[in-house]
Amino acid sequence: MSNNGNNHTNKENNKELDYYIWIEKALDDLKQKNIKRHVVHGGWTPSGFFHIGNARAELMIPTFISKSLKDEGFEVKHNLIIDDFDDFDKIPKGIKVNEAEFEKHFGKCLRDVPSPVEGYANWADYFSKQVLSALDEFGVKPNILSSYDCYKQGLYDEAIKIVLNKAEEVRKIWNEVTSGDKPKGWYPIMVVCEKCGKISTTKVREWNGQEVEYLCTNHRNYAEGCRHKAWVRPEKGRAKLPWRLHWPATWFIHGVTFETAGKDHFAAGGSVESGRRFLKEIFGKEPPYQIPTEFLLVDDAKLSGSSGNVISLRDWLDFAEPELLRFMMASYKPQTVINFDLHSNKFFLLADRYDEAERIYFDKKEEKSKRERQLAEIYKYAQIREIPEKMPVQLNYNIATVIVQTFPEKPLGEIASIIHEKGWIARKTLTSQDKQRMEKRLQLAKNWLERYAPEDVKFVVQDKIPRGLQLSDRQREALHIVASRLNEKEWDQKELFNEFYIICQHLGLNNTDFFRAAYNVLLDKDRGPKLAPFILTLGKERVAALFGKA
Ligand SMILES: [Zn+2]
Repeated sequence: MSNNGNNHTNKENNKELDYYIWIEKALDDLKQKNIKRHVVHGGWTPSGFFHIGNARAELMIPTFISKSLKDEGFEVKHNLIIDDFDDFDKIPKGIKVNEAEFEKHFGKCLRDVPSPVEGYANWADYFSKQVLSALDEFGVKPNILSSYDCYKQGLYDEAIKIVLNKAEEVRKIWNEVTSGDKPKGWYPIMVVCEKCGKISTTKVREWNGQEVEYLCTNHRNYAEGCRHKAWVRPEKGRAKLPWRLHWPATWFIHGVTFETAGKDHFAAGGSVESGRRFLKEIFGKEPPYQIPTEFLLVDDAKLSGSSGNVISLRDWLDFAEPELLRFMMASYKPQTVINFDLHSNKFFLLADRYDEAERIYFDKKEEKSKRERQLAEIYKYAQIREIPEKMPVQLNYNIATVIVQTFPEKPLGEIASIIHEKGWIARKTLTSQDKQRMEKRLQLAKNWLERYAPEDVKFVVQDKIPRGLQLSDRQREALHIVASRLNEKEWDQKELFNEFYIICQHLGLNNTDFFRAAYNVLLDKDRGPKLAPFILTLGKERVAALFGKA
């Protein structure tokens, strides 16, 4: 937004206060640029695993920006660039291959390396397919563009020619930004060696306006050149621009107006700084609007596609609805680190906040606080399908984990009915969509428990008194009284909860000691889910029988 005092009116100042979420601010900044047709980009190199951290800058943020622009009536093109023309320089952890077999391909482009897994055309194809096959489920629908194909089709030919003709200017900018010392006569271009097929081992020493002369002697610590020497036309995929030029060339070719990237690219001397200068000074275009995007940490660790410690989009679908990932990404400003915690019940907070946003969105009340309006707005960006008229049924994630553990043998459909009957959800009748939604969350909770949950969330309902159980006389007596009270009549949660306190008071038993005794007997643990509803869900006869034997 323009900041020169004169045209900075009060109205604009007030408008600033009206932003509820960061997407609106970005949209407003883009509108100031008076561009009619927008091109929104994300990009990724398929050298290793794509994780949900990549999804933030390269898929989700571009998707939200595209949506906001479209909703404002702009013509928008959303592209995802797959940088499969990049060279292969390491084998990521977490992929089992014969290393020696693959190391000989180091230095070739990712499309020319065999697939690490059978059934895929090549290295890039294998890793790309894992991502692309999941996009639909997240409601992300970019045009997919392969760099390799774009170069082969000649899309980059003009950009390459410009770079070679202005090699001296490029060199100056490159050295200025990177504090580098590229020598005079340096040409920033990577020719694919016609003899050995490697792309990172060639260097160009001459350009005659039509052809370049290259030598395959640019040895790397991971790849050796074959010493081939030849003249070639650097077009139609015979050569590639190095990353610092490939990126702005891509902006130039497609007329990119928005693209974010991980914040490491935005460091001083990084590829954002050089890219923006190259675009302006070499290609003569205005750089796109960019937002430095922070990392996403999982359990305090940065995800890395080459280290194998990743949560892929597919992994996400095992434990949470895709809307929750979108919700998380839309909630946090890109400049904020997301510290996602999958191995503690803090993970429930995300699900809870999503459910809360849903309730607020469907709440018809007119006066909403700023926070409520933010949540409702973020909820909209999280949606993949059309939002229904009526609020869908909500099954709290935490409760879902309790119930699936309470009835480990029962089919999910049956569990959904029990949840309804026992009053865990506020819904008179369940539609088939409601049931589907509940079964889905139950399945996700089950998967989460199996793969990620910490021990303190897991439990097994006991069918006999745990061995070695040690209770005081008062604890025993309290459980016996609960057992006989349970048999006396039908209870509701609140009544039963109050009864626990009456019994404790009567016996002079500490409440904490009472609850511990109950969980010791029911779960062989010191803690557990809320006791009164838990007992009623388990069935009071079953609990009474067990407590009676304590
Ligand atoms: Zn070679």
